[in-house]
This record gives sequence, structure tokens and C-alpha cells, in this order.
Amino acid sequence: MAETIKRDISNKRASELKSQISDFISSKNSILTGTCEDSIKNNNENKTKILSYFNSTEEDWQNWEWQLSHRIKDVDTLTAIVNLHPREIEALIKVGKKYRWSISPYYLSLINNDEFNPIKLQSIPSILELNENGTLDPMGEEFTNPAGSITRRYPDRLVINLTNECAMYCRHCQRRRNIKGQDSHTSKQLIQESIVYIKDNEEIRDVLLTGGDPLTLSDSYLDWILSELRKIKHVEIIRIGTRTPVTMPQRITTQLINTLKKYHPIYINTHFNHPIEITEESILSLSKLANAGFPLGNQAVLLNGINNDKFVMRLLNQQLTKHRVRPYYIFHAKNVTGTTHFNTSIDDGMEIMEYLRGYTSGLAVPTYIVNAPEGKGKTPINPQYLLMKGKDSFKIRTWEGNVMDYPNHATINLKKELKKSLNK
Ligand SMILES: *Cc1c(COP(=O)(O)O)cnc(C)c1O
Ligand code: SF4
Repeated sequence: MAETIKRDISNKRASELKSQISDFISSKNSILTGTCEDSIKNNNENKTKILSYFNSTEEDWQNWEWQLSHRIKDVDTLTAIVNLHPREIEALIKVGKKYRWSISPYYLSLINNDEFNPIKLQSIPSILELNENGTLDPMGEEFTNPAGSITRRYPDRLVINLTNECAMYCRHCQRRRNIKGQDSHTSKQLIQESIVYIKDNEEIRDVLLTGGDPLTLSDSYLDWILSELRKIKHVEIIRIGTRTPVTMPQRITTQLINTLKKYHPIYINTHFNHPIEITEESILSLSKLANAGFPLGNQAVLLNGINNDKFVMRLLNQQLTKHRVRPYYIFHAKNVTGTTHFNTSIDDGMEIMEYLRGYTSGLAVPTYIVNAPEGKGKTPINPQYLLMKGKDSFKIRTWEGNVMDYPNHATINLKKELKKSLNK
């Protein structure tokens, strides 16, 4: 075949590929991100307002303990900062009697006047939380707690719950049951019991610290827990699940990093749900963590009205990848009482996955997970790429929808064949 013909065919294919994402390219600009000019201006104005309300300084703002102790959790303070409809205020008072809410000044500063703003939906209670559908413990966590504050659902790894405190109580929190009425860290005794359990069970090679948000604990307390875990030879990796890069990036201080990095390998998983949450401040916290060698992952929750949109999710995952955060999971929202208005169909999740694979870097494609009932484990859900399993051939579907046969040859006995070739 002549070179020019090959080039023509390649160019035709390239323009076909280009047109595969033209819809995304043109709608990308209408998705609000945390780094666009409008957001920066909006967030700065909010910050000024909040600082003046508390009569505080920029230095306070940068201090995570100030952020934590100045969380906004009463109607008067909130309405002094954010414009709410009288009906919304009424709802807030009602819901507040049943479920607590609390928002770090930083996270609140990302809010804007859009009625359906993703920050607002995630942080300010709505009347829909009073819907009684769902259950409080769909995972049966009560029945997977062999010791201390451990949750064990898998053969080689487990979770230790360190606290129920968070910088902001996500309205969609799937652990609403644990978040309860007030902040409380897990007692030292329960943590010690958990550590003893891990010592006694040598198959545990991966320990996840969660809550709540473990980074609401002090550096010295974290130092103690990590040093205890690192005394156990069979603990290979430690993971920390924290939403602070999203809700309180000020927490990622040099002192914290110096504390944690003594105990590498530590993986950090965070929880961004929308590109509007990726601000300069959060990017700075991510780069500090990545520079200190913590592999970063993201666990998003698929949320109705927030990110159940193929382009929002594609942009979110691309931006995370850009900031060295590997999209790890997208969780299908469970049927938790008080959060069911955020639930989506599984079809929404499948559509999102369909428009990630192939359309963008494999690095930006997380696994879509449904948590099986009764704590039976994370179960991946994928669009169908394997259409038929024959004996000698499979029928596959490509990301663009080409249906093709793919041969399925038996695995040869390599050692036998090699021996034969040597006439042994
Ligand atoms: C999610 C989870 C894990 C970790 O699962 P991975 O798929 O390894 O990330 C471990 N234990 C419990 C109880 C969990 O809920
Ligand atoms: S940070 Fe995590 S544990 Fe805390 S409220 Fe949000 S989802 Fe729940």
C-alpha cells in the first residue's frame, strides 16, 4: 500500500476520533470548576465575609484548628453568610433537630448563589432528608466487628474507625449512623484492642484508617497509632481515608506530612465529587502529599444532581489525574435513610463508565462499585464488553461499539513444550 494511502486512512480515523469527544469539548466549559475565574472571585468574596463575621484573620484561615473550631453549625451564622430561601431555613431548622450538620468555613466559602450548587447540596441539609425510606445500616456493619473499632469484610485487610468527627458532615454520608449527635474520637482502649487484633491475625497485611475523618485527630495521636501499627511486621501497607483535601485543605501541614511519612508506605484516599471542589487550595494540599510520596486515590460517590452526568464525571476524573490523584472508585450510593434523594439508578453509573473507558486515559477510569448487602463486599459493575463466551471464541464489544470475534486459545503447557524443544 502506498504511504500516502496509509496516511489518508490514518487521518480519516484521527478525525473520526476527534469527533468522538467534540460534544465533551464543547460542554466542558459550562461545567463550573474550582479554578475558573468566577469561582476564585466568588470564593474570595465569601472568605472575606466569613473572616469578618468571625472577626478573624488570614492567618486564622490557614490554621486547620481554627477551621475545625469555627465550623458553621447554627442557622444564625449560616444565614449571615449565605442567602437562603425562607423555606430552606425552615427546612434547615427541622432537619437540624434530627441530623446534625456542620461546615468548615473553607468548604462553605466555595458555595455560590446557584440553587443547585454542588457545595450547597453536599453540605446544607434539605427537607428531603426527612424522607424515611432506606435503612441506617445497609451494610450490616454491626455484624462485621470482630474487635475494637474494626470492620472486617475481607481476608487480608480491615478498617479501623478512629473517630466520628469530620470537617464537614456530607449530607450524603453513607456512615450517617456513625456520625450521630456529637463529635467523639474512638477511645484509646478500643484502638488498642484493634491493634491487638491485628497483631494476633497475621494474614492482615493492609490496614485502613477511617472514620469520620482520621485527619481531625492531632498529629501526635496519629503518630502514636501509626507507630503501633508499624511495630507489626505483617502490616505491609497502611491507608488513610480523608476528605480534608476537599473540605479543609489547611489540615495538610508540613508537620502532618513529616509525621505521616515516617510510616511509609501510606496510601491516601480522598473524596472529591465535583470539579468545583478542585480549588487552588485543595490542589496545593494534594501536591504536598504527592511530593511526600503518598500515592493518592479518589473515592467518589455517585450522587443525584451532583455528579450523575457523564461529562461532569469525565472532567472530575481528568482533573484529579492532572493533580496526581488516581481515580480509584465510584461508589453507587447505598439506600441510607436521610440520604435517599441522592440515590441514582445503576443505569446512571453504567452510562458514566461507558463514556469513560476509551474516551479518556485509562488512568482516569475508576472502578464503579456496588456494595453488596450485609457487608458482603464491594462488587464491580461494568458495561458489557464481553457479549458471548464461546468455547473457541468470544464475542467482544469495543468502547466505540464495534462487535468482534476474539479467539480463545487454550493455554499451552509452557514447561512441557520447552522441555520437548530441548529433547528431554
Ligand atoms: C472498602 C473496604 C476495604 C478496602 O477495600 P479495597 O477494595 O481493598 O479498597 C476494606 N475493608 C472494608 C471493611 C471496606 O469497607
Ligand atoms: S467526610 Fe466521609 S465520613 Fe465524614 S461526613 Fe463526609 S462522607 Fe461521611
